[in-house]
Amino acid sequence: MYWNPSIERLPRKDLEEIQERKLKALIFYAYEYSPFYRRKFKEVGLNPWDFNGLRDLHKLPFTCKQDLRDNYPFGMFAVPLSQIVRFHASSGTTGKPTVVGYTKNDIDVWVECLCRALTSCGVTNNDIVQISYGYGLFTGGLGFHYAVERLGATVIPTSAGNTRRQIELMKDLHATVICCTPSYMLYLSEVAKEMGVDIANDTKLRMGIFGAEPWSEETRKRIEDKTGITAYDVYGTSELGGPLFTECVERHGIHVWADHYIIEVIDPKTGEQVGEGEKGELVVTTLSKEALPLIRWRTGDITYMESDKCACGRTHPRIMRILGRVDDMIIVRGVNVFPSQIEHVLMQVPELGEHYVIILDRKPDGLDEMTIQVELSEKAKIDRTTDILELERRVEELLKEYLNVRAKVEVVNPGTLQRFEGKAKRIIDRRKI
Ligand SMILES: [Zn+2]
Repeated sequence: MYWNPSIERLPRKDLEEIQERKLKALIFYAYEYSPFYRRKFKEVGLNPWDFNGLRDLHKLPFTCKQDLRDNYPFGMFAVPLSQIVRFHASSGTTGKPTVVGYTKNDIDVWVECLCRALTSCGVTNNDIVQISYGYGLFTGGLGFHYAVERLGATVIPTSAGNTRRQIELMKDLHATVICCTPSYMLYLSEVAKEMGVDIANDTKLRMGIFGAEPWSEETRKRIEDKTGITAYDVYGTSELGGPLFTECVERHGIHVWADHYIIEVIDPKTGEQVGEGEKGELVVTTLSKEALPLIRWRTGDITYMESDKCACGRTHPRIMRILGRVDDMIIVRGVNVFPSQIEHVLMQVPELGEHYVIILDRKPDGLDEMTIQVELSEKAKIDRTTDILELERRVEELLKEYLNVRAKVEVVNPGTLQRFEGKAKRIIDRRKI
């Protein structure tokens, strides 16, 4: 099943021709209409008339989050405000918020991308889709809303929060698909259980589309085991245009629509492109955006890329599950580790629950110390202190073995750690305080 079969199955060579043509046009467009890019091109001595397309891509300067902050609110827009039909903004937890704007055509491209994605993972006009991503300045809620309506499916616009009501509505309105963060899905299933609702048997839910935070394969298994649904990964950021890409039914990577976006993976330290299959930071160039075109946008997300043709028949390249954020990379005693890798190890231990927090401290002797607090699983019938101690030692050994990190593990009672309705906050870094 395809939303736009001729484009989704277009031979790679033809896709590259589209990219070539649109990239050259983008460089002229940015030079002409974006004072920010005109200045940036001048700084690196780039003349749009000398630009040779894809093979010169690596010569183009990067664009990063700081550029958006420095030009807050409208300094990077390439159209007058009269052409903007909507704003979205990031939360701004680390400094000023960043604002993005969309023209009518930008919204249409966003909806087209997400419609292709939703169709690729099997959502149809017969589905009833509960959207539990926040509606508002965050792109998750409205992004899914528009695409689900365009598909002709039915929307239940619950937004985030009010968890017990979410479960009642899921049951009463026969929701078949849910969109939210993976950590919220786990919380929903806990609350459902408290209410005596078994999602697998008492609701019609068959599928979930989860994203907005990095999550692991093990978490996917846990969600599926607890709820009986099939879990898909989604990717997108407000700067690129909101949720845009999901896994297809093959669930081997997320198709990135190459007629609208060019992807590269780079070494975050050197800025050099890395080979296919090698991990690095995802860099995206937007080929269709009018209001806020982005050239070599550094997403800060760590992944790797595969471009062989997918078994689903789509020719567009895939990025693999996001391993973490460049900023979230924890460096403890010289070892690099991502919270999602820690999660992967924890979720392999059946006695442990899904909720955990990573605490970083600096000891008086100057050495860093990592403590992982993780909840005991509801099912694990352990109450003897010696058994808990034995479990903690076992998890510490596993972390040492898989990630080569030394961490102190503290197993706590189920329900002790904080729950999140949006993105989960997994790291408490006390070293900065
Ligand atoms: Zn596919």
